[in-house]
Amino acid sequence: MIMKLILPKEIEDFIKNLYSHNSSKRLKELKERCGVLIGFIKKGEIIVREIVEIKNVADSPILFKMDPRELYNAWMKAEKSGMDIVAIFHTHPFGIAYPSKYDIDCMKYVNLPWIIIGSDGIKAYLYKNGKIIEIEVEILN
Ligand SMILES: [Zn+2]
Repeated sequence: MIMKLILPKEIEDFIKNLYSHNSSKRLKELKERCGVLIGFIKKGEIIVREIVEIKNVADSPILFKMDPRELYNAWMKAEKSGMDIVAIFHTHPFGIAYPSKYDIDCMKYVNLPWIIIGSDGIKAYLYKNGKIIEIEVEILN
């Protein structure tokens, strides 16, 4: 059972920058940004080592769909370094960091923590037994 996600400070900064860069754009140019986190799982904790942004081919401000080729490349990169894709992330340019109805439908099929960045910060969630569970996010300085 995953209890906690440990995020290095520089990765937290990267995610915050993605979010704030987005927020400064004009409304019609806004779109969700997405990608994966690479690392490993140890004693119920996810230790994140790298972040890879992946193109949102849905090109939408309210949903995302990762470019399959870039996702494959990220998976290969993780594999080569002896790690795994341990979480996926996306931004909510218009809302809080809580899964949308669309997100929840997708979470049922992606058995990984979902990191969402919204107006209230960075949050992590897991879908388990029909419920959305929030996971603690610890920032590692
Ligand atoms: Zn979402």
